[in-house]
Amino acid sequence: MPIVNATEMLLKATAENYAVGAFNVTNFIQMKAVVETAVEKKSPVIIQTSVTPSKFRGPAVFAAVFRAMANNAPVPICLHIDHCNEVDYCKRCADAGYTNVMIDASHHDFEENIRQTREVADYCHTMNISVEGELGTVSGVEDQVVVAADEAQLCDPDLAVEFVDKTGIDLLAPAIGTAHGVYKTKNPVLDFERLATIAGKINGRGPKTPLVIHGGTGLTEETVKKLVSLGGSKFNVSTELKHRLLDTTHDYLVANRDQYDPGKVDKVVLEAISGVIGKWMDLLGSSGRA
Ligand SMILES: [Zn+2]
Repeated sequence: MPIVNATEMLLKATAENYAVGAFNVTNFIQMKAVVETAVEKKSPVIIQTSVTPSKFRGPAVFAAVFRAMANNAPVPICLHIDHCNEVDYCKRCADAGYTNVMIDASHHDFEENIRQTREVADYCHTMNISVEGELGTVSGVEDQVVVAADEAQLCDPDLAVEFVDKTGIDLLAPAIGTAHGVYKTKNPVLDFERLATIAGKINGRGPKTPLVIHGGTGLTEETVKKLVSLGGSKFNVSTELKHRLLDTTHDYLVANRDQYDPGKVDKVVLEAISGVIGKWMDLLGSSGRA
């Protein structure tokens, strides 16, 4: 069954201590790169879109192309809406055919975060769609969500347990110090111990609610492996893919300014992005796991 929600693939990843890449796309060439690389690497995979490109192209259009591409793929593939901070748009994406929905109400106080997250979880679960919630805030810029580094709040482990229980979410994104965009420092301060504590409290007696790491771009390979070994089983990668897409397009156009064949740009972009995705699948340990 290639088209799945995120629950089963991530419970398996949590149990077997690897992570599944969640790769951000804004167009269908990128989506094609994700699907084809997953098939080639025999890897489970999550395709994710931010809210702005989802609204721009239309959630039903993304979902239809996803279905057309993923339907015959021999690996589990999930379509995820990332950092959606509007309950109504979460529901629209669920109705349109997304199979995993992230409600990000982390900027609200704890009780309101629970209330909104619970509402989305209850709605999505009637359609067998899994739900990701966030506790604490991830700094940086992710689409329409902007959080200053000094205002980012890390996730409290005890509240994380309460949050999971009261919302019924399937996946938890605990803020542990990773950031969106390009890291401004070479050695971002990550709270590994906090991640280990949260993983122990939530999944210590067997995989229950897989943990999500946001802000993959720019972390060293060693850091990524450590985050996975401590219990991160969904790993979001966005900025690196955006940079590769635009840099590759720019370089191609500069080198071939007399050509007017968009199909050739698509081809070099597809190859370049596939390379990045394949590298991440190997690093996260998901290759060969489908
Ligand atoms: Zn994120």
